[in-house]
Amino acid sequence: MNYSELLQLAKSWGNFISDRIIIWRLHWKQNEQRLFDEIISKSPEFDINLWNNRDTILKQRERQQEQDINHGKAILEGRDKGNKFGVECPYCHATNVKKITNTSKAMHTAIFGIFSMGRNSKNFHCNNCNSDF
Ligand SMILES: [Zn+2]
Repeated sequence: MNYSELLQLAKSWGNFISDRIIIWRLHWKQNEQRLFDEIISKSPEFDINLWNNRDTILKQRERQQEQDINHGKAILEGRDKGNKFGVECPYCHATNVKKITNTSKAMHTAIFGIFSMGRNSKNFHCNNCNSDF
């Protein structure tokens, strides 16, 4: 067997295998549909809303996980030292927050006047993302 014959053989093998993969994928798609039609959709626990919104739900879960990871990172890097209030930032979930005291509110109002009104209804300040809540 010479080089070009070998090459030909390798090519046909490659084609054979990619054909197999395409067929296998097609079968899998059909089976997946059948699995859904015959078993999943008939199950008493099946929730059509959950099923239809699965992409959104998965994305939300992913985002939650990302926030948890960021929170973990903040703790590891010392940006988040926790707090005694038992609250966490609703935006970035850091616990590195400080209480906005009445003195601090009064001082802020004295300096910024009317622009403090939004802040005055907030009780905590996040040291991680700088938001008040
Ligand atoms: Zn925050």
